[in-house]
Amino acid sequence: MYRERTDAVASGLMAYEDDNATRPRGSGKGELFELARKVASHSYSPYSGFRVGAALRLSGGQVVVGTNVENVSYGLTICAERAALVTAVSQFGPEIRIVAVAVANLNDAPSPPCGACRQMLAEFTLAEALVEFASADGVRTMAFSELLPLAFEMKRR
Ligand code: ZN
Repeated sequence: MYRERTDAVASGLMAYEDDNATRPRGSGKGELFELARKVASHSYSPYSGFRVGAALRLSGGQVVVGTNVENVSYGLTICAERAALVTAVSQFGPEIRIVAVAVANLNDAPSPPCGACRQMLAEFTLAEALVEFASADGVRTMAFSELLPLAFEMKRR
């Protein structure tokens, strides 16, 4: 189902404005997923061989992508979703709100966001944000609140 891609997305900081010419053409639906799939080609995953990409759409229209970066210690590995999230905050600041998420891989395997990424995303993602990910039945779309119904929250006083 997922074709290997050799064309890489633009190097450097992985942010695309909505009108950016580097954005692949697309109908809108599935476009974020396609960006996630593209950035998966940058994955550093020599240990698992599992190449994952994530794309986040922010409320301002910007799209930020990330890929998984493994480490020889295994435990220090960072997932594509968290890589994209920290990039988004780094580039656009702590007030960002994520309105859509896509997670793809080049392994033709299911890749829903892991528990750690769901919790990290919860800090910035709207409850109604749609999350697209590769599942056993093809690409699946769920509301974020459905994906993580009981996120840990700390009441701020
Ligand atoms: Zn994860």
